[in-house]
Amino acid sequence: MRMVLASNNEGKAREIEALLAPLGVSLTAQSFYYVPPVEETGLTFVENAILKARNASHHTSLPAIADDSGLEVDALGGAPGIYSARFAGPEASDAANNEYLLDELWEFPDTERSARFQCVVVFLRHAEDPTPLICQGSWEGRILREPRGENGFGYDPLFYVPELGCTAAELGAATKNRYSHRARALERLREQLSVKLRGNLDGSHR
Ligand code: IMP
Repeated sequence: MRMVLASNNEGKAREIEALLAPLGVSLTAQSFYYVPPVEETGLTFVENAILKARNASHHTSLPAIADDSGLEVDALGGAPGIYSARFAGPEASDAANNEYLLDELWEFPDTERSARFQCVVVFLRHAEDPTPLICQGSWEGRILREPRGENGFGYDPLFYVPELGCTAAELGAATKNRYSHRARALERLREQLSVKLRGNLDGSHR
């Protein structure tokens, strides 16, 4: 079964492909089809994920998977949240976002630097699918005072995972794919999708 992945973030695309490989789904990134980006105008991860999946499905006429994810820092009232990719400003680099986060948190002691990654993954059978699959996953951690590790992307070098004793950027891809917020959301999606696929995407015809 062919599907389009509504993401241009290569780090994420690699993770999602690996995580969904066992389903036998052939996932093509939307850039292959020249899908134009859609503005993420939602106020929730769910809304933004649906906007992205709908846009990709609309332009390709394929079922679509999209994720929307971000970092929630308790000391900052949940920021940057849905604005994680642009915390330091529009088009901000990962390094700029990380630096901005460290500045915002400089006065908080280690005991008040709790945070979590959130991820919502959505599957739409077609652009007007009225019953999307929506799955969520989260990953608990704490924001360090300086970056550690070279792997991953985004806030990984600042995100310390107590259960593993290292930052997300110190994990190999395979380990991150076992524990991450995206892994947890995709695991749920994989379960629900296999049920839908057994029903041969019943209802996919408009
Ligand atoms: P999205 O592409 O709109 O979902 O924005 C996600 C943003 O949240 C990314 O640009 C990163 O800044 C951050 N983010 C999401 N997932 C991760 C992760 O696994 N590691 C590090 N940063 C992440």
